[in-house]
Amino acid sequence: MAFEGLADRLQSTMQKIRGKGKVNEADVKEMMREVRLALLEADVNFKVVKDFVKRVSERSVGQEVLKSLTPGQQVIKVVKEELTELMGGEQSKIAVASKPPTVIMMVGLQGAGKTTTTGKLANLLRKKYNRKPLLVAADIYRPAAIKQLETLGKQLSMPVFSLGDQVSPVEIAKQAIEKAKEEHHDYVLIDTAGRLHVDENLMGELKDIKELTKPDEIFLVVDAMTGQDAVNVAQSFNEQLGLTGVVLTKLDGDTRGGAALSIRSVTDTPIKFVGMGEKLDALEAFHPERMASRILGMGDVLTLIEKAQANVDEEKAKELEKKMRTATFTFDDFLDQLGQVRNMGPLDDILKMIPGANKMKGMDNLQIDEKQIGHVEAIIRSMTTHEKEHPETMNASRKKRIAKGSGRSIQEVNRLLKQFEEMKKMMKQVTNMQKGKKKGFKFP
Ligand code: GDP
Repeated sequence: MAFEGLADRLQSTMQKIRGKGKVNEADVKEMMREVRLALLEADVNFKVVKDFVKRVSERSVGQEVLKSLTPGQQVIKVVKEELTELMGGEQSKIAVASKPPTVIMMVGLQGAGKTTTTGKLANLLRKKYNRKPLLVAADIYRPAAIKQLETLGKQLSMPVFSLGDQVSPVEIAKQAIEKAKEEHHDYVLIDTAGRLHVDENLMGELKDIKELTKPDEIFLVVDAMTGQDAVNVAQSFNEQLGLTGVVLTKLDGDTRGGAALSIRSVTDTPIKFVGMGEKLDALEAFHPERMASRILGMGDVLTLIEKAQANVDEEKAKELEKKMRTATFTFDDFLDQLGQVRNMGPLDDILKMIPGANKMKGMDNLQIDEKQIGHVEAIIRSMTTHEKEHPETMNASRKKRIAKGSGRSIQEVNRLLKQFEEMKKMMKQVTNMQKGKKKGFKFP
């Protein structure tokens, strides 16, 4: 998980100061020494670290902390606010042109994830904002780039505008915008060419596209795993083109976080989105405050709720509630539930969004074994439809067959059946209690 080392170090530093009834300069100095090291180790830009430490130190020995009844916690609040500020403060929204279409130029070096992100962004714009984007293949140099965007378009059932690799990118962009106007697309996402390094030819071409299309946004896609290199790349693209936003990809990997914490300060360009995986729905709006909260182990309930809303089908939830009430919940329903939770992402990332989860006993080094869930799914999938609905009818030989079919042991099959029975019993009890309550209310 991203930011792990930084999060661990900052959290243990904060832990030391949290309960203090009095905070003096020596305490702050000691704490800031650790914060400084933690940030440097996370590959945060040297100057950014220096400024950050200075600001937090000044505020921590100032009146807002001294006068507070809980100075320890007040210092943590200062750290969180400054961390949020470092990443841009407010969430930075995507532009909407007063006269459609809104034109977005996607730029970046090869391998950063530009083409994938173009597809992900189109998907997000349609899903979350109800927009109708047109994807434009303007990378005519990398042999597979046009094909890659077309494949993404197919997966998304979205149109891709391309004129092959013999027409200039400027001309492609021009014709694409005309087409978007004719066909009422409200967003045009131009996937431009990448290179291995920043070079003059590339910049010249990008400037030409910018000149002609007058884009509402120029998003630089950078790979978070490349740390300070990402910051340097952002700086040179910004100087040459004037970026409006950065998309930081591969934040699902174990990046130390340096890029996320430095880009805004160094380039004065906000991070607008973050890539959280290879799939087309793995792009999220970047919220500095939520990220700061996660790094400091304070959880991120808002993202958790959004994830649940996006992944849990409302109709299914209602149906499920009815099944629980009438105690007709089957193994198929159980499988469905597991699937919905899984769609929300890796389980230990989800757990980290729950405030205080990291402080619960045993949770700090809890490794959720995703394989275990896979085993449960395999066992259920080996049952017949009748067995899923009436597990009580299963005899020893059927259980043996299910164990064999799923590659699990008989004990595991028995354990699952027992747990399921207990769960159903519990549902019945809760339902009966509720019925009793209702009755009592009706006939007092
Ligand atoms: P481009 O050369 O910049 O257009 O890069 P691509 O879009 O071809 O992406 C390069 C590789 O990075 C591909 O294998 C992508 O699947 C992968 N990738 C892109 N974004 C992410 C992300 O957020 N997380 C992960 N894990 N992989 C990503």
